[in-house]
Amino acid sequence: MQTTTPLDIAKIREDFPILARPYKDRRLVYLDSAVSGLMPRAVNERIAYYQAFEHTNVHRGVSQLSQEATDRFEEAREKVRSFLNAPSNKQIIWTRGTTESINLVAQTYGRQHVHAGDEILLSAMEHHSNLVPWQLLAEERGAKLRVIPMNDAGELLLDNLEELITERTRILGVTQVSNVLGTINPVKEIIARAHAKGVPVLVDGAQAVPHMVVDVQDLDADFYVFSGHKLMGPTGIGVLYGKKEHLDAMPPWQGGGSMILSVSWEKTTFIGPPGKFEAGTPPIAQAIGLGAAIDYVRSLGLDLIAAHGHELLDYATARVRQIPGLRVIGEAKEKASVLSFVLEGVHPHDVGTILDYEGIVVRAGHHCAQPVMKRLNIPATTRASFACFNDRDDVDALVEGILKVKEIFG
Ligand code: PMP
Repeated sequence: MQTTTPLDIAKIREDFPILARPYKDRRLVYLDSAVSGLMPRAVNERIAYYQAFEHTNVHRGVSQLSQEATDRFEEAREKVRSFLNAPSNKQIIWTRGTTESINLVAQTYGRQHVHAGDEILLSAMEHHSNLVPWQLLAEERGAKLRVIPMNDAGELLLDNLEELITERTRILGVTQVSNVLGTINPVKEIIARAHAKGVPVLVDGAQAVPHMVVDVQDLDADFYVFSGHKLMGPTGIGVLYGKKEHLDAMPPWQGGGSMILSVSWEKTTFIGPPGKFEAGTPPIAQAIGLGAAIDYVRSLGLDLIAAHGHELLDYATARVRQIPGLRVIGEAKEKASVLSFVLEGVHPHDVGTILDYEGIVVRAGHHCAQPVMKRLNIPATTRASFACFNDRDDVDALVEGILKVKEIFG
């Protein structure tokens, strides 16, 4: 059944060939877009066209073919710039994904600014990829990680933020949307309060970009990162946005071709951003694919996608709450379409496995957020996440599947 949002879900479903494939002899119910978005046909076709007819290396060579490939690649960068409303496409750096973007910042900006005794402030609900790179840096530098706590509902406790930001805090890292709890964090407010104390902020947008319009200038984010595959683009491509003054001052990360001005045995000089951070042959087809994914979500309208996601989340939350023994994990007032739960007496892996027999794909585990599990005193959760191609039938299938799990486990 349709939701009340004006998106034509039946038509949208036709854009996703994978939804028509047989899966366990059933209709594939894909409720795992938070782990990776499905790719619409338009993205596949754009990548295939590039590979077949336009491919060669970029930023090299005088051939028309090379120039065309470079143009397509740089047009994709412009699409990302416009998507994030960044001031310049020189501030859009291609990486392999969110994880690589954060490692880049930790190992360049971080190494420049974090020294013995300094502090890095992170929220209690960070994905490992916005925690481990900072922990590695802290260990290398003799610095300390500090944590913005959260309540049992999965909301950050921000009353004492100004006390947590000390004169030793060198950077604050926070996710805009939690991949486990679905919580939408008030990042604009957090950034303003951090800036008032002179501290820059990195925002992990991996789970936010599929669900909301992001404007890095309005947020005033110092760094904003996301992955192509969460936005229905391909894997192997991600984005780092950074403020100009930071990117200009940061040293290169990896060295190699395409990022130099001149090289001699004595000394190498580097070009400016973004090239300075893009050593070697970049993921060209993937960047172009991400550009096509941005075109796709924009053609549907991110506002409509968000409204549809909210409606499905509300419907699903109300339905699963009626299941005895089921507890929703993550009850923040502001949530994106991520629904985690635990079922009394059944391990989430068993829930996920039985749902999979029924053709329902969800994620089960600690979701690369072990500190969140520890904070909530649970080993893992089962997580359903919703996208533009999901409908109420998918939620109903989930509920029936959970009831079957309960039947099996008595
Ligand atoms: N941050 C968040 C909030 C995520 O959900 C994920 C992916 N699960 C990541 C970071 C890491 O993304 P990637 O594996 O694409 O680098």
